[in-house]
Amino acid sequence: MSTKQDYEITVLFTGYSTQIEQGMLANCTCTLLKGPKLIIVDTMTAWDGDRLTEALGKHDVNRNDIDFVICTHGHSDHIGCNYLFRNAHHIVGNCISHKNTYYTFNFADNPYKIDDNVSVIATPGHTLQDVTVLVKNVNGLTAIVGDLFENEKDLEDERIWKDAGSDSEELQLKNREKILAIADWIIPGHGAKFKVNKIK
Ligand SMILES: [Zn+2]
Repeated sequence: MSTKQDYEITVLFTGYSTQIEQGMLANCTCTLLKGPKLIIVDTMTAWDGDRLTEALGKHDVNRNDIDFVICTHGHSDHIGCNYLFRNAHHIVGNCISHKNTYYTFNFADNPYKIDDNVSVIATPGHTLQDVTVLVKNVNGLTAIVGDLFENEKDLEDERIWKDAGSDSEELQLKNREKILAIADWIIPGHGAKFKVNKIK
């Protein structure tokens, strides 16, 4: 049974990435968390403002009511519509700000707890500032990981996450294993949500 404290996790847009002649065609997975706080994770490109606003409207959310914008890292396909959320605190990678105030917080030592059910942890690798959002609800623990995982297929084929760019393959591998050990569900940076198969 869900309670008021429970977060509803909605993937508003499923990300993708494919090779094209000029390079890549890509956009990120964008997720809405509805609970005691309203949180949006990864805001796609700067050209997605209208459809993002419209998608939030379908879930009865006004952009001015968003409390936190969390971008798993600072690449342009994950931060493009941050400007829409002017009343929110913004967490971009391991940098926390509101307007022109930048807060000191050391992700290396602690998770950043938004409340008992949502926290943000450092998971460097894809970039050295990458973070993951951990959400507890009735379905278990969901990890919104950005490009730590490109999509479900990269579990079988490591070239997928490596080719998407990795500032430290060693750290990324370590953090991928850490997330696989704790999460029941993963929402990757450029693919659909998937269930983690636990090896018993
Ligand atoms: Zn990305």
